[in-house]
Amino acid sequence: MQVTSTHGGNTAKSLDARQPEKVSGIDGAPSRPERSGSKNLQTTLANPIHCQGIALHSGVTVDLVLSPAPANSGVRFQRSDIEGSPSFPALYNHIVDTRLSTVVACETDPSSLRVATIEHLMAALSACEIDNILVTVSGPELPVLDGASDAFTFLIRCAGRKTLETPRQVIEILRNVRVEGENGAFAELRPAQRGLSLAISLSFPAQAIGNQRYAIQLDERRFMEELAFCRTFVNRKDIEYLQSIGLARGGSLETAVVVDGENILNPAGLKIEREFARHKLLDAIGDLYCAGHRMQAGFIGHKSGHTLNNKLLRAVFSDAANWRFAPTGSSRTATKTLRARVAA
Ligand SMILES: [Zn+2]
Repeated sequence: MQVTSTHGGNTAKSLDARQPEKVSGIDGAPSRPERSGSKNLQTTLANPIHCQGIALHSGVTVDLVLSPAPANSGVRFQRSDIEGSPSFPALYNHIVDTRLSTVVACETDPSSLRVATIEHLMAALSACEIDNILVTVSGPELPVLDGASDAFTFLIRCAGRKTLETPRQVIEILRNVRVEGENGAFAELRPAQRGLSLAISLSFPAQAIGNQRYAIQLDERRFMEELAFCRTFVNRKDIEYLQSIGLARGGSLETAVVVDGENILNPAGLKIEREFARHKLLDAIGDLYCAGHRMQAGFIGHKSGHTLNNKLLRAVFSDAANWRFAPTGSSRTATKTLRARVAA
């Protein structure tokens, strides 16, 4: 079926976002994913779903299929245009490039079997609490869609969420871990009492961006209301350079905020105040989900991006004293839920 901007059930903000050009696998109006009391059980999609969209850099149309996957398989990618190629995990130690976007690759053939620009989908999966999914794409890059996560959350909600009978494992950060970049940039994870909270600050010479800060305790509702629709952004000079070397061909003023000094070149301006900082937070949520599990931690980023986010995860997992799987109430509750279901 074709999806138009007249669909019901989605948030009002996503009506402004560019939805996938074509979506199949929907039987009815999009709905919120299944909400169950089993927050500590793993999930997957209830149904597969397909869309087509334009890849940001190559500008070609790619097919994307999101499919249910079994417990403990995590988020995995597969290239449908390379026959017989294996799937590979969306894990921090499989990230091979972070310069323009987060790029994941298969360790057996990282030069061919790779998928770029995974971060906006990863953020949507994290916020919608999808633990296991197979992402099949017919090219080396995910479609850019709305330049944010709203189109992906739309797909996930259309597909529905299914709870599995396997407890979820949550990574608990046990001590502060910090990595630093140039010009005072840093990213840090700290112990936290519950869930994932994030705070980010950025400082850009372009006056239209300037200094901005945004913080959030991650949950699906706040993600949808405050971050999911916030687009990626780029300097006019940078996008002109990228396009001169054959990149960013699929970019447009609908999918990115383009900044030129104190001016924003998009005729409609920003979607919301501090859209830049909010998008950086969205990116961090997606990059952190490459830990392979949900996280109990506090994240602080200053002028951070994909490179520091990945460096941070590598630093966390380089020392077993930095983290553990939360022994918690979370698994005890999940076991109780399982027992109750078996007894019923
Ligand atoms: Zn982004």
